[in-house]
Amino acid sequence: MAYSGHCACGAVAIRIDGEPLVVRQCWCAQCQKLAAGGPTHNAIFLTADIEVTGEIASNRRMAASGRELAWSFCPACGTQLFAASSAGPHMRAVRLGLLDDHGLKPTIAIWTDDAPAGATIDPAMEQYPAQPPPPGAPR
Ligand SMILES: [Zn+2]
Ligand SMILES: [Zn+2]
Repeated sequence: MAYSGHCACGAVAIRIDGEPLVVRQCWCAQCQKLAAGGPTHNAIFLTADIEVTGEIASNRRMAASGRELAWSFCPACGTQLFAASSAGPHMRAVRLGLLDDHGLKPTIAIWTDDAPAGATIDPAMEQYPAQPPPPGAPR
């Protein structure tokens, strides 16, 4: 199945030919900044399956885990597009809000120790207090 989507203003479009490795929520403090107080919702796809058109902008920072995180957004409207970690350059965490009619549902919540008061985390989701092992890694 292929997924497609666009930012709020339409300047950036994405097409993905593949299925996500995992779909998860991230409640880390940085994601709460990006997501206006809630978690980010991310589908992890292989970078090679993703095609992006339009101009994008990026910021980067060192995460508490010691890896460098880069997150990209539309410079025209500010929509969050996807994130990448230096620990997994072959993967991108695509923001679910970027995708149209995707039908994807998070099954894992991570960095739950950072969740704010009043956060509602579906108990049906697998939960990690901080960074989980990368998708596909032995546990
Ligand atoms: Zn835009
Ligand atoms: Zn996060």
